[in-house]
Amino acid sequence: PSTNVGFIGLGNMGGPMAVNLLNKGHSIVVYDVSSEAVKRLEDEGAVAAASPSEVASKVDRIISMLPNSQHVRSCYGGDKGVFQSIRPGTLILDSSTIDPSVSKEMASLASKKGAVFMDAPVSGGVNAAAGATLTFMVGGEEKEFVAAKELLSVMGKNIVYCGEVGNGQAVKICNNMLLAITMIGTAETMNLGMRLGLEPKLMASIINTASGRCWASEVYNPVPGVLENVPASNDYQGGFGTALMTKDLGLVQGAATATHSPTPMGSLAHQIYRMMCNSGLAEKDFSSVYQFLQENNNN
Ligand code: NAD
Repeated sequence: PSTNVGFIGLGNMGGPMAVNLLNKGHSIVVYDVSSEAVKRLEDEGAVAAASPSEVASKVDRIISMLPNSQHVRSCYGGDKGVFQSIRPGTLILDSSTIDPSVSKEMASLASKKGAVFMDAPVSGGVNAAAGATLTFMVGGEEKEFVAAKELLSVMGKNIVYCGEVGNGQAVKICNNMLLAITMIGTAETMNLGMRLGLEPKLMASIINTASGRCWASEVYNPVPGVLENVPASNDYQGGFGTALMTKDLGLVQGAATATHSPTPMGSLAHQIYRMMCNSGLAEKDFSSVYQFLQENNNN
């Protein structure tokens, strides 16, 4: 019996995650709609498959790292999807950030085939993917967590069990809502202070010992030059793209609507990030909200 691992979605995150599996001795079968992405992994020693269905026919564990819910639905449930040929007993770990209700839907389809689907979205960006230091937030049946953790540990440092399927996504999108709100708050605070004549490094250092302190002010400050080695000090390149943050805030709004939860700040954050996407910042890091506010300063 094969103990191969299948990997579907070999982009900014999935590519380096798959390389870590290879480097730690796993044989992997890969698929991506982009032939260049597949070629990069073949060059590292992976075996290419022509469809998700072909991947599923050759492995007993599958990891996917796709952009959004629609991609996950078609990859698993589509014509040449995983569920066409999945073997009973296969463990599926989907690390894409998607709608928690789609994770539940996939889990129920998987169980009809005798397979197990767990959601396992990640925190940590491309550097953490390359360095195998990701945090995985895992939802699904607890008895399956040991096997999930064993495989995810090859690509990450913290593997956290969050409860039933969909809970990993729930934690992930809640975190990203707070991250977006605090990033926008930090950016508008810094912008105002600087226009009041404050020096940004001094201002940040005081905030970071005062009650306004947060990850965005302290570790990922959006003002260029306050910190080194953050996207803000590198023309907002690399990091976590504004378009992906906008997608996550859209998932938050869907979840808030479905559960009748008031999220006034989250919905405003969504609108601001959508405007940024329409203002040429889609591919820039999400801390570029500072640049966006500056462009709207009334001089
Ligand atoms: P990406 O766009 O770089 O990669 C996605 C890959 O999936 C691409 O190679 C694309 O060709 C492939 N793909 C698209 N549709 C496909 C299909 N139907 N079948 C097979 N392959 C398909 O995105 P990414 O940055 O790697 O992000 C992936 C997921 O991880 C997203 O849900 C994102 O929100 C989440 N995430 C990203 C980061 C980050 O910092 N980039 C951090 C945490 C979580």
